[in-house]
Amino acid sequence: MKEMLIETIKNLFSKPVTVKYPQEPSPPPANYRGLIVYKEELCIFCTKCEMVCPPGAIRFTYGEDGSKKYHYNPYLCIYCGECVRACPKPGCLTQVEKTAPPDSSIPNWDELERRAEKSKKAFLKAKAIAKKSGS
Ligand code: SF4
Ligand code: SF4
Repeated sequence: MKEMLIETIKNLFSKPVTVKYPQEPSPPPANYRGLIVYKEELCIFCTKCEMVCPPGAIRFTYGEDGSKKYHYNPYLCIYCGECVRACPKPGCLTQVEKTAPPDSSIPNWDELERRAEKSKKAFLKAKAIAKKSGS
């Protein structure tokens, strides 16, 4: 009974052990593998990151001239780090100890995936036609 009373009094004056999530972000655990950060200026657009990503959280859309644009869905990402390991350019993709912000706005991913597929097909078709007419 005495120990219980001491413990109760101690708890009355100690800090709460809980966090006010979602008003305050919960701190990531030690060695937490978090968000993928991309540096376009280092990218050679080889698309290896897209190819190895298990859930398809990285997609490239293609321009008519063959230019590619990187897209990343932090809510689809399972933070496995495969894209970082596959990237041939050091520093282009890094994994930071940060979680996806709760209020982050990402584009409609279903629509983006359709656009990525469509633009890739159109680019490959145009490339094949150009190759055929060139030979
Ligand atoms: S960490 Fe894994 S799931 Fe996330 S983008 Fe990279 S390969 Fe995809
Ligand atoms: S693997 Fe690296 S260099 Fe290749 S497209 Fe992805 S981010 Fe760019």
